[in-house]
Amino acid sequence: MSNEGVIYRVAGPVVTATGISPRMYDVVQVGNEKLMGEVIKIVGDHTIIQVYENTSGVKPGEPVVNTGRPLAVELGPGLLHSVYDGIQRPLKVLNEKMGDFIFRGVTAPGLDREAKWDFKPVVAEGDVVSPGQIIGEVMEGTMLHKIMVPPTMSGKVEKILAGSFTVEETVAVIDGQEVTMMQKWPVRAPRPVAEKYQPTIPLVTGLRVLDTMFPLAKGGAAAIPGGFGTGKTVTQQSLAKWSDAEIVVYIGCGERGNEMTEVLTEFPELTDPKTGNPLMNRTVLIANTSNMPVAAREASVYTGMTIAEYFRDMGYNVALMADSTSRWAEAMREISSRLEEMPGEEGYPAYLAGRLSEFYERACIGRALSGLDGSISVIGAVSPPGGDISEPVSQNTLRIVRVFWALDTKLRERRHFPTINWLTSYTLYDKQLKDWYAQNVDASFPALREWAMQTLQQESELQEIVQLVGSDALSEDKKVTLEVSRLIREVFLQQNAYHPVDMYCPLPRQFKMLTLIKKFSDLADKALLAGATIDKIMAIPAKQRFAKAKFEETIDAELDAVDKEFDEQFKELGA
Ligand code: ADP
Ligand code: MG
Repeated sequence: MSNEGVIYRVAGPVVTATGISPRMYDVVQVGNEKLMGEVIKIVGDHTIIQVYENTSGVKPGEPVVNTGRPLAVELGPGLLHSVYDGIQRPLKVLNEKMGDFIFRGVTAPGLDREAKWDFKPVVAEGDVVSPGQIIGEVMEGTMLHKIMVPPTMSGKVEKILAGSFTVEETVAVIDGQEVTMMQKWPVRAPRPVAEKYQPTIPLVTGLRVLDTMFPLAKGGAAAIPGGFGTGKTVTQQSLAKWSDAEIVVYIGCGERGNEMTEVLTEFPELTDPKTGNPLMNRTVLIANTSNMPVAAREASVYTGMTIAEYFRDMGYNVALMADSTSRWAEAMREISSRLEEMPGEEGYPAYLAGRLSEFYERACIGRALSGLDGSISVIGAVSPPGGDISEPVSQNTLRIVRVFWALDTKLRERRHFPTINWLTSYTLYDKQLKDWYAQNVDASFPALREWAMQTLQQESELQEIVQLVGSDALSEDKKVTLEVSRLIREVFLQQNAYHPVDMYCPLPRQFKMLTLIKKFSDLADKALLAGATIDKIMAIPAKQRFAKAKFEETIDAELDAVDKEFDEQFKELGA
């Protein structure tokens, strides 16, 4: 047996070779054009390979070469700002090399070989460094890129340089080994951390329905399932722009043919609202366009996750979005069917659940080997056919993730955005995050949230009664409840992603808005007891002012004014 064999059979992206003896997940070069592929199954002398490029025209008898290395990504300065395909080939370089023609076998390294980076050491010769320790720093655009000892290396720093280097040039010698700013890591193996913590800090997003009602913890995982056009991509992009993660890794698997083209043209135009710099300064984009083979899509989520882990290891909070994981699962299904594996539910492979959980379990908060705390929060969009989440990808995802943001086609029809359904969505982090909210927003925040959730629950029960017997049958205080819940829905939960003021709502403001709704509720109850009519309560002018406040430049002053007016106007009603 050797490293060179021949193709025995070609079935779409799956090629069977004989004559090589690789390990699982070794990368192989397939055919005369040396197409890149990965070993996914070994049966006796038959090696089964998923190929990342189009295999049409590739024939049995052509050569196959085993590289003996697993699929790995290059990690180092130059990652930020990049737009990659699923196997970390820079799309720009691919486009330049291929032009309008799709040539195959094009190799393009993930990190630019010519770019020079200013390396500033933070350890000295003679120091003893541990695996993952930070040995230097590079300014990569506006982000501080920390250069770490690879997780598999440690020892005495025999030499360390300062100055301008490419990612291939030696910047240090540790225990006899030359260290560059670039390290490679196999995508399917999670990078190690020193310690994992329980998630207790929310990923603050500026979206009221998420932060207040259904928060995701930093280091946790959330799923956004929703039918076509319900707002998965808009939500993911809002999170990319606004969440308090320092680094964003965005993995796009487009649903529509042109959707990735939109992402590729729009993302580079986005500005980071917090700094005014391009959002790409802190973003790595992985794009699977529809003309790319399914195997590259299968690999793309691992490529993205490994890059996310690398930035976590520097002590950053990373947000990883995958839009949509359903397209990834379909890639698995297609490859599985080519392997003629026994299909599971709806044709998905039996290992679908295992792959999904391996992926989401790489979300974490903890102490990295560098000694710094970092996190990866994962937000996966799911696009079930027809919006029906009883299908396997949604169901398996829901078993793993602890936050479920259910996008609702009916809410979309009512133009209630974001279309996150407040009755079916949930977060299992609420108890773990309670203290954080009490300490960092307001001691009464958890109780206020609870009150709002209960009010919405009551509304849904009352609405059933209204549908049966009409609203006249409701007592006055129940009518107040309906009005209060309408305010929660329409003023608080609805949020326009395109409105310059409303698109981001800081936590203290979220608290203030909800406090005012509670105040309205309490005062309305009092006024009722004092004999005011429901019509008078409904007609309170400050309520109108409150509903409009979220679109005003001077929103915080507006909310304070509403607060006063509630007191004054309800006083006239005897409250
Ligand atoms: P999906 O990715 O689920 O197919 P999109 O994210 O592309 O859906 O959203 C479809 C459309 O819905 C958007 O183009 C936009 O018009 C509208 N929309 C979604 N979310 C919001 C929002 N938060 N605010 C305003 N409009 C929204
Ligand atoms: Mg979309």
